[in-house]
Amino acid sequence: MGTGQLTIDLDAIAANWAALDSASGSGTETGAVVKANGYGLGAARVARALAHAGARRFFVAHAEEGSAIRNALGRGPEIYVFSGHMRGDTDMLNDLDLIPMINSIDQLTRHFEALPDAPFGIQLDTGMNRLGMEPGEWMALRDIAVPRGPRLIMSHLASADEPDSPQNAAQLKLFRELTAGCGIPRSFANTGGILLGPEYHFELTRPGIGLYGGRPFADSRQVVQLDLPVIQTATVLEGEAVGYNATWVAEADTPTVTVQGGYADGILRALTNSGSLWADGVECPILGRVSMDLITADISGLSHVPRELSLLCPEQTIDAVADAAGTIGYEILTSLGSRYARRYAGRAG
Ligand SMILES: *Cc1c(COP(=O)(O)O)cnc(C)c1O
Repeated sequence: MGTGQLTIDLDAIAANWAALDSASGSGTETGAVVKANGYGLGAARVARALAHAGARRFFVAHAEEGSAIRNALGRGPEIYVFSGHMRGDTDMLNDLDLIPMINSIDQLTRHFEALPDAPFGIQLDTGMNRLGMEPGEWMALRDIAVPRGPRLIMSHLASADEPDSPQNAAQLKLFRELTAGCGIPRSFANTGGILLGPEYHFELTRPGIGLYGGRPFADSRQVVQLDLPVIQTATVLEGEAVGYNATWVAEADTPTVTVQGGYADGILRALTNSGSLWADGVECPILGRVSMDLITADISGLSHVPRELSLLCPEQTIDAVADAAGTIGYEILTSLGSRYARRYAGRAG
């Protein structure tokens, strides 16, 4: 096969959801964030695996993503839209029974006028200053919005992956103040928030990255394997260079392979001369620039030429690749390209 093979372990996703569900505690429901095409892994398959595991409430970034999830899951599960009720969303929200998380007075007005009987939620900004109603705005609207029975009131933590950050407790305190006594189910914790402890859990948690095998959920099962076929082998002689602009020069004769896969497949160019591929448990450093479709690696640690090398495998997690590229596991996953042959493993979904 001429393209890389991406294997997505749906059972691992289901197991990660179950582990985060038990970490969320018995009085708390655990939802699932499936935005960005299920963190790049395929929204429909991922959502079905999570529904199979027990998830009943799903979160997406915008209404179009909600449509893919509704088509995959059918009627029943609740689908919440973080961007709220945008101009032009009305029909899609209504036809597909999507629940907008209202972010402003403008959205609230639009929703009540266009779909007065349709469900909605409220998103509050407790300090991230990204999305959600400001505290003052909310306090002015609270007595109008709460009697109309929002399904959920939520806010999002900015530093949940840093347990020592004082921002966590400050946001928690404000969230409690803004929602005290309103009697509406609340949701505050993403993956990192679940790990901060029970006071962050409220009625519903919203894990994303932990479902897909990423930090900060250290006990997560790895979900993705990415294998890149070897196209060519060579010995680069001492003094010769590899790749665009000759950024790597051999200090000794070096056996190399070139594999199919490059930055057009989402293998970040920042891995140039810093990342590694793996084969049979042996690390094979990337030599020179990551090209659009190709990567060359040093196989001097191997006694044979493998048929493929892996970027993501048991030896190298999404976070290890992220560290080598100077980014986060979320970006590694959501960059995974569309040219791979995708295979879903496991019973779930
Ligand atoms: C992406 C997102 C989540 C999930 O966060 P993770 O860190 O991936 O667990 C939860 N809530 C909101 C509002 C988000 O945007």
